[in-house]
Amino acid sequence: MSNEFTSATFNKFLGEHKLMGARCTKCGGLYLPPRAICPHCYSDQIEWIEMSGKATLAAFAAVFIGPSTLQAEGYDRNNPYCAGIVELDEGVKISARILGVDAKNPASIAIGTPLTIEFMERGVAEQQKTVLAFKTI
Ligand SMILES: [Zn+2]
Repeated sequence: MSNEFTSATFNKFLGEHKLMGARCTKCGGLYLPPRAICPHCYSDQIEWIEMSGKATLAAFAAVFIGPSTLQAEGYDRNNPYCAGIVELDEGVKISARILGVDAKNPASIAIGTPLTIEFMERGVAEQQKTVLAFKTI
């Protein structure tokens, strides 16, 4: 697979446990998910750059009724999970699963909590995929 600036390549890197952003070499704009053309300066001079994996919690929701894939993992109204938006140290926001927080008690979860990246492996064989998550430090 080539390293085109597509979600497929982004996910391939995730499978290698790398969180990669696309950076415009002209204006420095950074994009996750990647963009092939910089939306700020319209340059196509884009390069992949690995993110540090450090972030803070920007927004979250405790999810009591999730998609079937998450129900299969054992999450339900009695065992909610936390879906969030994190702000990477590089200044870009991305959605991810949030680990190490008490989703049953959302009042205990604080915006701005420092987080570190975690790669979750789900499924087997061809169904296997890497899920992006961040956990409390
Ligand atoms: Zn640019």
